[in-house]
Amino acid sequence: MKLIFLGPPGAGKGTQAERIAERYEIAHISTGDMLRSEIRNATLLGAEAKAYLDRGELVPDSVIIDMVRDRIQREDCKNGFLLDGFPRTVVQAQALQDFTDIDFAVNIDVPFERLVARISGRRMCPDCGAAYHVSSYKAETCQKCGAKLYQRDDDREETVANRLKVYTEKTAPLIAYYETQGKLFTVDGDAQIDAVTEEIMKGLDA
Ligand code: ADP
Ligand code: ZN
Repeated sequence: MKLIFLGPPGAGKGTQAERIAERYEIAHISTGDMLRSEIRNATLLGAEAKAYLDRGELVPDSVIIDMVRDRIQREDCKNGFLLDGFPRTVVQAQALQDFTDIDFAVNIDVPFERLVARISGRRMCPDCGAAYHVSSYKAETCQKCGAKLYQRDDDREETVANRLKVYTEKTAPLIAYYETQGKLFTVDGDAQIDAVTEEIMKGLDA
């Protein structure tokens, strides 16, 4: 099974992707996590990407396309994979289509006015990538691995507005792109985490 998760920043893609990938035993590939890990490891790619992430802009298509193309060749993808955060532009979607056929694009729909609060309250684990929200999780360390949580630089309110604008301009057109291909499946992301997971699984199993 080869899946794509679409949705604006803060829709819960990462949280749902992790659960769905585990359930179907496919690789969870988050381009955002990959880029943040490149930045943390101070690689050349990380140095190039950092300026874009900090401004809430997209990393150039060519960079991200090469990164994903390599990643999906790895052994852990032979059962399938779930792309979380890719494609984010029509050019990326076309490139992906040139190297593989995806089965479904799951679109997680959340009203725009909810997103800022969701993103600005988000806290991340630097080690395992788990995400928490300050409204429901009060501890300062990760429940899964114990690392100290942090706030992503691009989750600050100043940058969030630009990320939402970039999403609307560059990524939202992918909804129509996959709809036309008959691959789109939209779920209501403005519900309890477990309920959203259920809805996605029901859709995929059907
Ligand atoms: P979110 O979905 O919450 O916005 P991500 O962790 O998926 O966050 O992405 C964080 C940042 O990483 C993006 O704002 C962008 O700068 C960069 N990025 C991730 N995926 C891509 C992509 N497919 N194309 C270009 N840039 C990307
Ligand atoms: Zn952790």
